[in-house]
Amino acid sequence: MHLEQLQAFVLSNSDYGERDRIVSLFTLEHGRLRGFARGARNSRKRFGPALETMARIHIQLKQKEGLSSLQSADIITLYPGIRGALGAIAHGLYACELVECLTPEGQPMPRLYRLLAAYLEQLDSGSIDTSDRRMFEINLLNILGYRPSLDGCSRCGADFGERGALLQQGGELVCRFCAATGHTMPPPALRGLSSCLATGRFGQLFLDRESLHAAGLLLDESLATHSSRTLKSIEFLQQTCNMGES
Ligand SMILES: [Zn+2]
Repeated sequence: MHLEQLQAFVLSNSDYGERDRIVSLFTLEHGRLRGFARGARNSRKRFGPALETMARIHIQLKQKEGLSSLQSADIITLYPGIRGALGAIAHGLYACELVECLTPEGQPMPRLYRLLAAYLEQLDSGSIDTSDRRMFEINLLNILGYRPSLDGCSRCGADFGERGALLQQGGELVCRFCAATGHTMPPPALRGLSSCLATGRFGQLFLDRESLHAAGLLLDESLATHSSRTLKSIEFLQQTCNMGES
């Protein structure tokens, strides 16, 4: 069992007994894994604030099936710009929890790692925008192989064209011949989401209000369908979004 040096995001952590912590990590090299940080609760010397949720770190660990043993950690960034703003904290925690709930354990996903890094950097720069949140979500679904069918009906293949699509349970998009009911996904919303997949850069694309609403219905439904559990951070996110609107 050799010591490995990895790059990672801390997705969440929980106390274990009086002295230790269990940390959920998303590493560049091995994807998501769980680590055991001995003494992390009662001694700040060894890990300091490096195991805070949303920290980006270098970590030294001994990998074991199920629960790796963390030896030490060095902070790359704690994203101080995020930690100073409630809305940014809510969006950042939400992004980390999505990665935790939708990724398999032990599978490297460098594209998703870079996407999370880019999104947290955007939030850290002081920019909180719902278009960016939706861009993160659609790209996350795409990388994981859950991309909704944005161009044509998922059942018969017909082009959506200017008629738009109808949203079904589970985030499925179909044409008006294949379903009689469902929320309408207008063409600008479908095109906007396709553009989000094409650019991959945050802060560049802004969906209009109607498109954001429709994209939100689709993405919330898709993410809930593929998520391993109900997200804890979603309520906090909704509260801060409502505060921003009032
Ligand atoms: Zn169809």
